[in-house]
Amino acid sequence: PPYNATVIERLVSEDGIIVGKTNMDEFAMGCSTEYSGFKPTRNPIDITRVPGGSSGGSASTVSSGAVPVSLGTDTGGSVRQPASFCGVVGFKPTYGRVSRYGLVAFASSLDQIGPIARNVGDAALVYSVIAGKDEYDATTFDEPIENPFLPLNNIDIERVRFALPVEFFGEGLQCSVRETFTYAIKKANLKVNEISVPMLKYAVPVYYIIAPAEMSSNLARYDGVRYGIRENSNDLIEMYELTRTKYLGVEVKRRIMIGTFVLSAGYYEAYFGKAAKARRLLTDAIENVFEKYDFILCPTTPTTAFKLGEKLKDPIEMYLGDVYTTLANLAGVPAISIPCGKDEQGLPVGMQIIAKKLMDKKLLECAREIELRLKEG
Ligand code: GLN
Repeated sequence: PPYNATVIERLVSEDGIIVGKTNMDEFAMGCSTEYSGFKPTRNPIDITRVPGGSSGGSASTVSSGAVPVSLGTDTGGSVRQPASFCGVVGFKPTYGRVSRYGLVAFASSLDQIGPIARNVGDAALVYSVIAGKDEYDATTFDEPIENPFLPLNNIDIERVRFALPVEFFGEGLQCSVRETFTYAIKKANLKVNEISVPMLKYAVPVYYIIAPAEMSSNLARYDGVRYGIRENSNDLIEMYELTRTKYLGVEVKRRIMIGTFVLSAGYYEAYFGKAAKARRLLTDAIENVFEKYDFILCPTTPTTAFKLGEKLKDPIEMYLGDVYTTLANLAGVPAISIPCGKDEQGLPVGMQIIAKKLMDKKLLECAREIELRLKEG
């Protein structure tokens, strides 16, 4: 690329060493890194399994010990879900906290860059370097990041109120994920209350309308004219068709079709318009929860890392894996995944903690406290 993203410039200015770029699902669309334009990445904990996605390369590289920290983008879970599958920490900051200048846009109202690290302290350190106002990204907040980020203060966890949405503990949740998560809550001695937020069941359907709609528009520029490679033809429309047919991957094409369909004149109100309204209601419902509770707590993913190829035949099943992560993107709030134990096969289980908008520091402090408590004994 002809220039660096702001996050890279900021890391380099703090003497960060950029080792390289890692593998991912094409245009960050996917949950397993199997939709990579290259080859799939494997999970270093069990190489017959996926590392999650779309930032599968970033998570597996940290998990295997090749680098201490990496970056990913989280539009619907792509930092937290691979972190969970690979047994490391993944943090999605509040929408607008980290500049996206230099990032290839997927769904502009959802995208956020975040760190993947071996522990919460390292994630907080990287976050404190990359976060903050950037004149090149108009969505970044003016408020300075709360300093000092390090050391993170200890919080009085006994007084923290955690909400556990019952909607997240039903169908589709792997038994051993539920057991490991429940055991971790006990071990960390967290005060949890069950709550019900009926709107939560719409998070995945709303996400899979809004994200494809925005991406179909963002990816229109990859038509062979200005960006990327071109298939030549004397006819302009044919050149677009040949180029996009040949060079875009199967999942990206599927989403362009969904996205252009839900935005098309006859269906706009029925699909995109409705999803936008549902997103507002969902956000309101979440803000309501934060009137009474400090954090929402749930597993990061309904299952642990699955086998390569296992979900490729059924896109819907793949999408349903995003059931706990998409909420934070739709509501623009910060969320983190920390390892909280292992399932019966020794695969890592992630605990997700979600906080109110701009409570990134408090969220990191809470996550670090839980991390410490889970390590004890
Ligand atoms: N798995 C989600 C998707 O496929 C999330 C992707 C992301 O956060 N980049 O859209």
